[in-house]
Amino acid sequence: MRIDILTLFPDMCNSVLSESIIGRARKAGKVEINCIDIRDFTNDKHRRVDDKPYGGGMGMVMQAQPIYDCYNSLCNEIGANPHLLYMTPQGKTLTQQRVKELAGLDNIAILCGHYEGIDERVIEELQPEEISVGDYVLTGGELPALIVADSVSRMLDGVLADSECFEEESHYNSLLEYPQYTHPAQWKGRDVPQVLLSGHHANVEKWRREQSLIRTKERRPDMLEKAELTESDKKFLTSL
Ligand code: SAM
Repeated sequence: MRIDILTLFPDMCNSVLSESIIGRARKAGKVEINCIDIRDFTNDKHRRVDDKPYGGGMGMVMQAQPIYDCYNSLCNEIGANPHLLYMTPQGKTLTQQRVKELAGLDNIAILCGHYEGIDERVIEELQPEEISVGDYVLTGGELPALIVADSVSRMLDGVLADSECFEEESHYNSLLEYPQYTHPAQWKGRDVPQVLLSGHHANVEKWRREQSLIRTKERRPDMLEKAELTESDKKFLTSL
């Protein structure tokens, strides 16, 4: 899969995406991620990419032309129109379900706004999918774009050690994950639950499933409506 991030701050994105699991996956060719500088596409002789908002008011607005030309150049390079996402607090909130769907595409391009946002006409022209990372406002779309690039990349074959790594995780099946423990078995007088030391695989699985159900019921009961529950899960939940 190829992911292109269209941004005024490519170094900010590249530095994060060069580290840890995603950095290794990029090096190994499991995912291609490019950070493209929108400023390289401005027609302005001073390399400006923003201007004051019409109608007055605070801040600057990113101009349509460099963004449009940046996306078009990418389409020409790829020979196709990558699915375009625009990161904005006005979009639909990103979910694990949407992440899974995006991971099924060959190409996505992620447009990062900055300052007061971008000229509405380029949104009308390119009709991106508008995605938010939550009901709060950040200074730019770079952190949200990194969230998309990270969450999508880790769904791809070979990025994590095994698909089990994400299939049991919170949100994948509309449940929160069970609690995790590692060495030592006792820390500050707190013991690791005995069942995890038992080596009894079936009992460990049962305990983890129950913990997952308990956590979800306590913290996110809304998620249980969408979860695929067995008869024994339902029985367990009613016993709580
Ligand atoms: N004036 C805009 C508004 O009120 O809707 C907010 C602009 S924000 C300061 C600058 C840029 O940050 C946005 O264009 C967007 O790309 C990004 N951004 C900020 N908060 C975001 C969020 N919650 N989700 C996704 N992108 C966000």
